[in-house]
Amino acid sequence: MNNDITKESIWSEIISGLKAVVNQDVVSTWFESLQIVSLNNSSLVLGAPNQFFIEWISEYYLNHLNQVVAKSSVPDIKIEFKVIDTDNLLVEEEEEVVAKPAASATGSNNGTRLLLRYAFDNFIVGESNRFSFAAAKAVADAPAKAYNPLFIYGGVGLGKTHLLHAIGNYAKSANPKLKIYYTPAEQMFLDLIQSIQERNHIAFNNKYRTLDLLLLDDIHYLKGKERLQEDVFHLFNHLQSMGRQIIFTSDRPPREIPTLEERLVSRLMSGMVCDLKPPDIETRIAILNNKAKMDRISVGPDIIYFIAENIRTNIRELEGALIRISGYASLTNTPLTLETAKQVLSDLQISKAPPKPLKIIELCAHHYNITLDQMQSKERTANLVLARQVAMYLLRTFGGMSLKEIGAYFGGKDHSTVIHAIEKITGLKKQEQQISQDIHQITMSINGG
Ligand code: ADP
Ligand code: MG
Repeated sequence: MNNDITKESIWSEIISGLKAVVNQDVVSTWFESLQIVSLNNSSLVLGAPNQFFIEWISEYYLNHLNQVVAKSSVPDIKIEFKVIDTDNLLVEEEEEVVAKPAASATGSNNGTRLLLRYAFDNFIVGESNRFSFAAAKAVADAPAKAYNPLFIYGGVGLGKTHLLHAIGNYAKSANPKLKIYYTPAEQMFLDLIQSIQERNHIAFNNKYRTLDLLLLDDIHYLKGKERLQEDVFHLFNHLQSMGRQIIFTSDRPPREIPTLEERLVSRLMSGMVCDLKPPDIETRIAILNNKAKMDRISVGPDIIYFIAENIRTNIRELEGALIRISGYASLTNTPLTLETAKQVLSDLQISKAPPKPLKIIELCAHHYNITLDQMQSKERTANLVLARQVAMYLLRTFGGMSLKEIGAYFGGKDHSTVIHAIEKITGLKKQEQQISQDIHQITMSINGG
């Protein structure tokens, strides 16, 4: 390396390069607050005030950084980060305090693998999840007596794993003797592989066949895994015959998991099947308020509302946005205003605009070969009614729109008509393959365009 090059000169070259590719605010917030720690032949080490900083940069700006370094006079240098003490200690101390109870909450679980932080108490109930919540509660109250199996499905980040742990935690506290085990299907698969490799199926059976309550998460993972399907089938028969409870979750209903054998599908459907839908605006607001309270984040209702309006289909992202916005404000010492919130969300480009309602309605009209006018008319031929009901169903599941909002798109229909439509399609979708295919195809085109 050329001796004239110092760590300061490299860093200032990189900083000016960054200014050309990202917003000036980003550079001053995230990069200019880093301190140069050391330089050797191959790497430049930078100090960050805390881990959050490093994660943030790595997640959002690493590509920019690499791109700038590649074009600099030291294209081969590696940039590394480490946390160093700064006068920012206050922020770190606060994080400590918050982190401690969480750590102990996830501590000992007596081999159940249950996470105590997921409970019924902190699960916010709204229209989108009321039914699944009630079913989960019923099963936790009386394992193997209410619904067996219970099958809960829904999209990413809608609370499947949360409910599963909540059932386990509740049942365990009601009856500490119960043998409960939580596992993602993937982990069970690894156990199975291991038992095959070690030719020790007994250990596998001992582990799973002796349970009172098995919480099996994300079983869409069974797709294409015949041996695992076979084992789940036998395990399920065994547990059920012994009067034990199984609860499954999946990202889709049993019938829509490809390559699942018919006998397993009908097994999975033989108890109670219920779904989690994207939460409506009221529920999203309640979830955010609850999260803010639990994490001791003080934010105004305007910001809560703004986040709730912009992130509609994934509760994990909803909560993530709140944490990022408050993290940004505390790190940059800026007040937590609506402006800041807007900026953080747009910088992150995580503002998930849902598909436009009219677009969804148009795609439904197109699918059923009718016009947009017919769709929104009062005409009541069977085909038009079906198309309208499917559109309402999709507006609800995709847009997370309120019943009133949906009704407004169909000449101001009242909310009971909309509920009726959604319930009807939810039912038909389970009974009639044609409807479930229609919905699948329209969904694909909504996602694709
Ligand atoms: P999934 O397993 O469906 O992908 P998770 O159960 O992991 O989703 O939920 C994602 C995050 O959202 C978790 O932090 C969970 O606690 C939270 N969450 C989901 N649903 C709710 C709810 N109804 N009330 C409060 N928090 C929720
Ligand atoms: Mg999950």
